[in-house]
Amino acid sequence: GGYSLYEAKKDRHANIHPFPSSVDVAHFGKARTSHASLDEYADIPRPRLGFYGVIDERMDLELLAQIADQRPAWQIVMLGPVVKVSEADLPRRPNIHYLGGRNYADLPAHLANWDVALMPFAINESTKFISPTKTPEYLAGGRPVVSTPITDVARHYGDLESVFIADRAGFVEACDKALALAASGQDWLAKTDERLSGLSWDTTAGQMAALVSDAAAAKTRVPRKQAAPRTIPSRQISKPYDYLIVGAGFAGSVLAERLATRLNKRVLVIDQRPHIGGNAYDFHNASGVLMHQYGPHIFHTNSAEVFDYLSRFTTWRPYEHRVRAVVDGKRVPMPINRTTLNELYGLDLTSDACAETFLAGRAEPVERIRTSRDVVVNAIGRDLYEKFFQGYTRKQWGMDPDELDKSVTARVPTRTSTDDRYFQDKYQFMPADGYTQMFANMLNNPLITVELGVSYEDVRDTVDYEHLVYTGPIDAFFDYRFGKLPYRSLRFRHLTLDREWFQEVGTVNFPDEKTPWTRISEYKHITGQTSARTTVTYEYPAAEGDPYYPVPRPENQALYKKYEALALAQTDVTFCGRLATYRYYNMDQVVGQALATFRRIAEREKQAPVLLAPRHAESGVRETGDNVGTAVLR
Ligand code: FAD
Ligand code: UDP
Repeated sequence: GGYSLYEAKKDRHANIHPFPSSVDVAHFGKARTSHASLDEYADIPRPRLGFYGVIDERMDLELLAQIADQRPAWQIVMLGPVVKVSEADLPRRPNIHYLGGRNYADLPAHLANWDVALMPFAINESTKFISPTKTPEYLAGGRPVVSTPITDVARHYGDLESVFIADRAGFVEACDKALALAASGQDWLAKTDERLSGLSWDTTAGQMAALVSDAAAAKTRVPRKQAAPRTIPSRQISKPYDYLIVGAGFAGSVLAERLATRLNKRVLVIDQRPHIGGNAYDFHNASGVLMHQYGPHIFHTNSAEVFDYLSRFTTWRPYEHRVRAVVDGKRVPMPINRTTLNELYGLDLTSDACAETFLAGRAEPVERIRTSRDVVVNAIGRDLYEKFFQGYTRKQWGMDPDELDKSVTARVPTRTSTDDRYFQDKYQFMPADGYTQMFANMLNNPLITVELGVSYEDVRDTVDYEHLVYTGPIDAFFDYRFGKLPYRSLRFRHLTLDREWFQEVGTVNFPDEKTPWTRISEYKHITGQTSARTTVTYEYPAAEGDPYYPVPRPENQALYKKYEALALAQTDVTFCGRLATYRYYNMDQVVGQALATFRRIAEREKQAPVLLAPRHAESGVRETGDNVGTAVLR
């Protein structure tokens, strides 16, 4: 099914993927070259507006009658079996022709005898989630399409010149336009064909097969114990720990490592997920491609402290991330740079100064820069803002840039040079063996126990510990006492394809609002892996799901401050990380925050050594958690 069905069902299972209809372009393309008149059309003059498919309760029969009555000269051809509705209910008019069902093989010949193709569906419960296969078929057959506003048709094809979306009131007028386009020549076909490319059934079948084999392989590879969250029987973990750390992401793992290595603390790290690494978790999929479960994670930092610290646990591969944005049918560098301007506007700006002047001519000064719109419009003007930021941000955050703090879009600068790197940080590297291995190395300490598939709620009353480090969402910790803090989520669609490469750079952004995903990333660019197959991830923003992004806006910050006040009053709990401190932090910022947090803890421990001393005296070396793997400290 298509994207609407996916949206309605995606929360039913973690491994759900939309597959809108594909099309056999060669088969239906025959309609473009065949000019043979079929005998059965001998008495049906032109113009002919045709529909093929099952004629059932999804058809707007009143609309059919209306078209026929308003334009008696038009001939409406209805091809297909009548199902679920009574023949008696079909509107009968001299210019409506019910020809009955035909074989798939014969459809192109019929299309060739029509001028325009119709989808006069009723808008009701039965059509809410449909993603009609006939849309790409009609288009492959070279016929403009007029459709009622079916969500998936409008979403995937509504922006094409050859597709007209209209409700009952505007349907006939839309048919007028479609007939005019059909008579206008072939210019519109190129854009239509661009949309159809990549929609073959073979591609779809290949993508489905890859998902099935990934799922099957994951099932055999992951030990059952890790596959499902479980509660640890209290006798197993009621050992005395100095620290319980909730979350095995950057915040939790850095603190665990520091506490164990520097202060000799016994640490229990738990995570409700079946793996370490938090959102940076990566793994080799069934095709052997190293991929990131929670979307592409590119490491970059200007902090020597952070880089040196992590370098204890990994070697690095130099990598500079590059992103292209699809705008006006072109793939141009993002962040916007001189090349972007030249390619987009057909210019020949040859220096930084020229580009600066060009941008200055478009910038619209904003007196007080507060929002994510202000910051962009002030720098580069409305046109570039709308093309690159407005749609992307609306999709990503579910709100207009006007409603978001300026810090969000300010993350993405504009350049007058031709530097097309996404980041300009001093250190741009990927962990050579992946993030998960780096985390395993960090946690590979006899004083650290890691328990996975365990939530804080499962163990809060049974584990014996002195101090808690919490890196989950702060509002959940306080049982949402002041209401929920908004976190934005994403759905990931991971695909492994039977081809070496999918796109030219690590990430391609889709800022237009019609494309439901924000970006597609291809891991091999990022990891430097070589493989005959390739894995890509589509990101679909979502309101519900895992909390990935704190949403920077003043009222959310005010709500967070109320939770922060509670947090500050808890002397035996430390809050750290992106979710616990409600900050839109990159990985390096979280590492920096965790190192600073550790320094504060160490200071406090120095001042009150007696508090924890008795436990130390009796502590021996503990076994490590069994999920950490065979880590080697480099
Ligand atoms: P997390 O990684 O979220 O770890 C928190 C952990 O706590 C989770 O594993 C969670 O399961 C666990 N947890 C929460 N509540 C509980 C509970 N009650 N019981 C048990 N466990 C619990 N940063 C970059 O620098 N570069 C990038 O390219 C980049 N790309 C990103 C792309 C995406 C799609 C996303 C979502 C983020 C990206 N980031 C990137 C940001 C990066 O993921 C974060 O900065 C970093 O992972 C935060 O680490 P953390 O430890 O604070 O949180
Ligand atoms: N953004 C945009 N268009 C783009 C890229 C980014 O409008 O092509 C905006 C959008 O609001 C996004 C923000 O800039 O959320 C920050 O982008 P970044 O790539 O830093 O986000 P990340 O994915 O790293 O969180």
